[in-house]
Amino acid sequence: MRLTFLGTGTSTGIPLLGCGCEVCRSADPRDCRTRPSLLLEFDGRAVVIDTSPDFRFQALQARMTRLDAVLFTHAHADHVLGLDDVRGFYFRQQTPIPIYADAQCLASIRRIFAYIFDGDYPYGGLAKLEPNIIDRPFPLWGLTFTPVPVLHGSLPILGFRFGQAAYVTDFSTIPDSSLALLEGLEVLVLAALRHKPHPAHSTLEQSLAVVERLRPRQTYFTHIAHELGHQQTAPLLPPHVELACDGLTLEL
Ligand SMILES: [Zn+2]
Ligand SMILES: [Zn+2]
Ligand SMILES: [Zn+2]
Repeated sequence: MRLTFLGTGTSTGIPLLGCGCEVCRSADPRDCRTRPSLLLEFDGRAVVIDTSPDFRFQALQARMTRLDAVLFTHAHADHVLGLDDVRGFYFRQQTPIPIYADAQCLASIRRIFAYIFDGDYPYGGLAKLEPNIIDRPFPLWGLTFTPVPVLHGSLPILGFRFGQAAYVTDFSTIPDSSLALLEGLEVLVLAALRHKPHPAHSTLEQSLAVVERLRPRQTYFTHIAHELGHQQTAPLLPPHVELACDGLTLEL
């Protein structure tokens, strides 16, 4: 399986519009972060986790030529607003693109993108999507995806485990029952927002404590805010933890 970080920034992306801070003005390409999303390629298929507002740009950068399914963690703007652009792949493939989300997330997607699900929409040019509510592990082309419930402030959202890898973004708390689903990982992709505490996001230090508890072989931090410059932050991490960056690919 190949895993590509399509976007590794927090909800605003980096640079943050209008911000003149050192990281937002950085010439280091690793400090340019689009909104969070992950591409998984296996068995000739392409699956993305979340469709960020930057999805079209990300798909071009990654030279995606197909899209077979979308998994959603939750329906915040930085994770869903690119959904309209999956239509390019639908036009080519001409089969409905399955999307997977929990019931609450799917209800929000149906509200935000009501026109996509409107059978009488008179303007054409829409993607056809096949919504699936997930509440248990499910298979996609030979790979089992296990939803990993976490708390994002007070909002229950999903991370996903697939084989020996997992993606957990936007969490503030991981319940013990979900930590148990994340044992024995080769690769953990984990959100780490910044140093300063946030009511709905894990800090770098809190995410390091999760790593310490789970001990995956390698961890990549994502959903990064402009407080964490790549060059300034990388030396603070142990060798088995790295900051992801946009376009980074891993072969698993
Ligand atoms: Zn987010
Ligand atoms: Zn900034
Ligand atoms: Zn969120």
